[in-house]
Amino acid sequence: MNLSYWEIKSWLTNIDFTIAGSGIVGLNCALNLKKKHPKANILILEKGTLPQGASTKNAGFACFGSLSEIIDDLNTHSEQEVIELVKKRVSGLQLLRNTLGDKIINYQQNGGYELFTKEDSQLFDDCLSKKDSINSLLNPIFNEDVFSIKQNTFNFKNIKENYVFNQFEGQIDTGNMMMALLVLVQSKGIKILNNCTVESFVESNNSVKIKTNQFEFSSSKLLAATNGFANQLLNENVKPARAQVLITKPIENLHIKGTFHLDKGYYYFRNINNRILFGGGRNLDFKAEETTELNQSERIQNKLEELLKTTILPETPFEIDYRWSGIMGVGNQKKAIVKQLSNNVFCGVRLGGMGVAIGSLVGKELADLA
Ligand SMILES: Cc1cc2nc3c(=O)[nH]c(=O)nc-3n(C[C@H](O)[C@H](O)[C@H](O)COP(=O)(O)OP(=O)(O)OC[C@H]3O[C@@H](n4cnc5c(N)ncnc54)[C@H](O)[C@@H]3O)c2cc1C
Repeated sequence: MNLSYWEIKSWLTNIDFTIAGSGIVGLNCALNLKKKHPKANILILEKGTLPQGASTKNAGFACFGSLSEIIDDLNTHSEQEVIELVKKRVSGLQLLRNTLGDKIINYQQNGGYELFTKEDSQLFDDCLSKKDSINSLLNPIFNEDVFSIKQNTFNFKNIKENYVFNQFEGQIDTGNMMMALLVLVQSKGIKILNNCTVESFVESNNSVKIKTNQFEFSSSKLLAATNGFANQLLNENVKPARAQVLITKPIENLHIKGTFHLDKGYYYFRNINNRILFGGGRNLDFKAEETTELNQSERIQNKLEELLKTTILPETPFEIDYRWSGIMGVGNQKKAIVKQLSNNVFCGVRLGGMGVAIGSLVGKELADLA
């Protein structure tokens, strides 16, 4: 298809910044670029009809790490690195809440719970014995104890009688967040083109020549916010990791309220509009889930249903309404990759399972680089 003179002139000429990807990072990057360069011409290219990675697919936990996760991170990261990770998540969440407002994203601080299966005695004991030292480690950030022990009042089955409670964990409405971000971005005069995949780019002196599945054009700078799909465009240490989810139909008198982590965080569930949203199970087949295919597997979906029946809602009849999956970007380090790749090309990718928390900040850091 040949583009018209008008299309070329109005959409694709004198572009200062092109962002690949309209997830939470790409959209926040665009907002921050506009703040820094009010006159700049900013274009976002998104391969999906809707954003099509993780930002519209996630569970909406506003979390910064469960107790067992923080303990585990201390095996591979220094204390200082772990503090920095938690700090980033907390300030990222604050930035998200400031940008959009708690009401719009339906932010609720109902607390987070970590549940331990009966087979997890060793892990549970380890968490109990390290709880106080982790609370002290995090005290400079929260000025209060983060983790405490609570009794299983939600009547979950097949788990330890006590769980670890995190008073600062919250939840948001992911759909509201992304809709609000898209509206805000467009209200600033930033253009978004959907169904447009950046296929390759070539850097010349003062610009980047960008080839998409629809057309080619030049932009002064290119910023890749393509997370789990990063390696289709860049040569960075990011692997795709699919995460599968299901949601029940509304359940009458649902008493479960909060965000819940089970089996070292490999499973997670929450309440939303009288439903239970439940995801996880990647550990059943890491290799098969290292994919960018947005499908579900029978094995993982069956396991999710089984855990709903046996552990989460053992006495409550339920039906599944929807099932879906999203693609995360992961690597051997929890830190996101935010860096300049060449004179005019930058990236902000590899957000792992914490992009709701750190996405706004990574978007801002990416904008600050360019
Ligand atoms: C099921 C699931 C549950 C999760 N739960 C939570 C949670 O509860 N709390 C939390 O903090 N985090 C959670 N996460 C992680 C979080 O959603 C992500 O870390 C975050 O959304 C990443 O944002 P992003 O903008 O970097 O990436 P994405 O949202 O994946 O955005 C990247 C965008 O780039 C587009 N794209 C890719 N390649 C190209 C290309 N070549 N050209 C144009 N466009 C392209 C994609 O279509 C996509 O829209 C979850 C993730 C999943 C999948």
